[in-house]
Amino acid sequence: MSTSHDRRKEKETLTETLIRFLRERYRDGVGTLAQRYPNEQRSLVIDYDELYEFDHDIAEDYLAKPGQIREYFEEALRQYDLPADVSLDRAHVRVSNLPAEHTHYPGHFSPTKVHNDEPYIGVEGEIVAASDVHPKVTDAAFECKRCGTMTYILETDRGFQEPHECEGCERQGPFRINFEQSEFIDAQKIRLSEPPEVAGGEGQTIDIYVEDDLAGRVTTGDRVTITGKLQLEQRTSGNEKKSTFEPYLTGHAIEVQESDQTTIEVSRDERDEVKAIVDGELGDPLEVAAQSIAPGVFGEQYDHMKRAIVLAIVQGDWVEGKDGSVERGSISILLVGDPSTGKSALINQAESNAPRSVGVSGKGAREAGITASAVRDDFSDGEWTLKAGAFVKANGGIVRIDELDDMPPDVRSAMLEPMANGKINVSKAGINATLQTRVGVVAAANPKYGRFDEYEPVVEQVELGSTLI
Ligand SMILES: [Zn+2]
Repeated sequence: MSTSHDRRKEKETLTETLIRFLRERYRDGVGTLAQRYPNEQRSLVIDYDELYEFDHDIAEDYLAKPGQIREYFEEALRQYDLPADVSLDRAHVRVSNLPAEHTHYPGHFSPTKVHNDEPYIGVEGEIVAASDVHPKVTDAAFECKRCGTMTYILETDRGFQEPHECEGCERQGPFRINFEQSEFIDAQKIRLSEPPEVAGGEGQTIDIYVEDDLAGRVTTGDRVTITGKLQLEQRTSGNEKKSTFEPYLTGHAIEVQESDQTTIEVSRDERDEVKAIVDGELGDPLEVAAQSIAPGVFGEQYDHMKRAIVLAIVQGDWVEGKDGSVERGSISILLVGDPSTGKSALINQAESNAPRSVGVSGKGAREAGITASAVRDDFSDGEWTLKAGAFVKANGGIVRIDELDDMPPDVRSAMLEPMANGKINVSKAGINATLQTRVGVVAAANPKYGRFDEYEPVVEQVELGSTLI
């Protein structure tokens, strides 16, 4: 293994060491990039573990000075021995997959400490808002309206800079941006939240800025880990600067999890235990799982409900036909019974059994809270963005609905599309998007007259509308 000690001994520069790293560990990766650059691929993704294994010091330096080391890395890529007709002049190197101690949920780390010590971190969570992709000027050409001379300025993240004076007539403009002579890249702003199963309510969030080939890769509802550099922006109130700062991330790499899957750390013992259950060593696996649902609510009358909840949590496969038709992979459950018979306890405690679960109360529920809403807030600088509702947030898990009978009829109708198709088409405020909603619904309702009448058919005692049932 090489170390920085070897490097000094060999008088190798950092760039030379990184070229050697790329040659030894990413020969194929660089080759593929060279073939596909620039239209199909513009980035080489480096696994942090590979870098750490190759050279501890460089890997650790990367966490502390990601901007600088990344420049060396990209220089190494440009100097790499490539076929004569290929130049990777603007290719990116993206270091990804940081160890667990450098990967956090939003709000679960000290921004001060991270910013001071090792600002390169991974942030894991669910995307709750994503802006449109906008062109962002990186190299601006200012054309003087008086003499026509072009003055070029490299624009950075620290706000938009205009020339102090024209390079031709030395007057202060006025200028106009010459689009043909300027360079633009795609840019997008993303808001990442603690996952609902971690937050247990409105989660803490962090805003992330991504550029070029990372822009537009993800959408609202996606589960991701974004690696990048934590930065601080001073808060303002009107024109007044405040003494507090807002942390944000400049995203360098995105790993998308399957949007309907959740990563859970499983120990070896737990794995063995699960295997024993699946193999039937403790009895019928469905019975074993059912017993773990709301142990405080017990009695024979609940057994089949608990089995149904297990099946709703587990789900089957969703099959999408070529014609766009969908074979549903989930089941939905409605518990109807007299008040105070444990319905709410059953469905609410199912939360601790489901890897992903979002709760909705029927009373006061709004359509936007079920599907998605278009919002215009501080996040979007006055533009409309999509905010995920319960069915989108719970994709791959269950939606728990208490007091379904109190839910306004229009909100109940809004549940039909996501339940039937496993996705919703959203068209709001000029934004069109398809969001996945592969969920099992576990709901509870009271009978129409408050109590069950054992002489009337059940369906007539539930006032929910025939389409939903
Ligand atoms: Zn001029």
